[in-house]
Amino acid sequence: MRALVTGGAGFLGSHLVDRLRAAGHDVVALDDLSTGRAEHLAAHRGDPRVTLSTGDVRDRGLVRREVERADVVFHLAGAVGVRRVAEDPAGTWSRNVEGTASVLEACARGGTRCLIASTSEAYGPTAAGTLCEDHPVVLDPAGRRDVYGVSKVAGESLAIALHRTSLLPVTVVRPFNVVGPRQSARYGMVLPRFAASAVRGEPLTVHGDGRQTRTFLHVADAVDALLLLTTTPASEGLLVNVGSDEEVAIADLARLVVAVAGTAAPLRFVPFADVYGPGFTDPLTRRPDVSLLRRLTGFAPRLRLADAVADAVRSAREAMAPV
Ligand code: UDP
Repeated sequence: MRALVTGGAGFLGSHLVDRLRAAGHDVVALDDLSTGRAEHLAAHRGDPRVTLSTGDVRDRGLVRREVERADVVFHLAGAVGVRRVAEDPAGTWSRNVEGTASVLEACARGGTRCLIASTSEAYGPTAAGTLCEDHPVVLDPAGRRDVYGVSKVAGESLAIALHRTSLLPVTVVRPFNVVGPRQSARYGMVLPRFAASAVRGEPLTVHGDGRQTRTFLHVADAVDALLLLTTTPASEGLLVNVGSDEEVAIADLARLVVAVAGTAAPLRFVPFADVYGPGFTDPLTRRPDVSLLRRLTGFAPRLRLADAVADAVRSAREAMAPV
């Protein structure tokens, strides 16, 4: 089988490329290297069965050519990180909306099996409780981070519409805080940031009072879920949460990271307004209902939060080590 992974040099994408190759498939990683890094695919250098195609998913000709040669397409390319989104709303919009339309249209032409990554942000910043896929999307077009959510929901909507009208075999996943090795601390994600500070013994910056909760899914489990979904025809035309139900408060996560790092790094609490400016709403909770994923594929995470924290700390130490 030949797989196309857009965003294949990124965090989740490169782990997926590794796994597809290990399973004996040919893989093309399409990535513009804006946030992805060629080094993430360094293990495949010289391997003719893994190709890095450097290009933009908004380049319709390029995408069409790559999709035509693929048996399955994983569309993971998109704008990354709350911080980057806040700084570049127009770029976020264009990458996510035009990029996703380009991939979906190319897949629809040949009826190519595809999976697109949306986001748990689709539920909006005020959604609470355990979020099921039929939970209404409540996004405020004027919200500080909602341009990201709205742009991802636009992609979801097109995917489902193309499934309905053209029988496009597409599954839309909504990942909830995927973490693990290779995730950069640069784009604002909490676990790599905490790990980078903790291993240096520097203060961990906790936003707000740290009582907001998240669930974290190890990237190895996330890759399992994506692969299982693409081999499950019953997932076509559906939105599916991909996440863990192990919930943790952000301040407790910070303490756990410091304990695993074994340093005396302190926590520093900073008001949200000081981080992102006024008008920014941070979700208080974000916990997925994962029963649809389980029912469709039998998936259950094999790794726990403690594993993800241990891996993040190890990664942060490696990034610090002189080469
Ligand atoms: N966060 C934090 N310190 C950081 C980065 C993030 O306290 O250095 C908080 C952030 O405000 C949010 C949570 O950690 O409450 C998760 O943030 P992330 O950006 O990783 O994911 P998301 O907000 O998209 O769930």
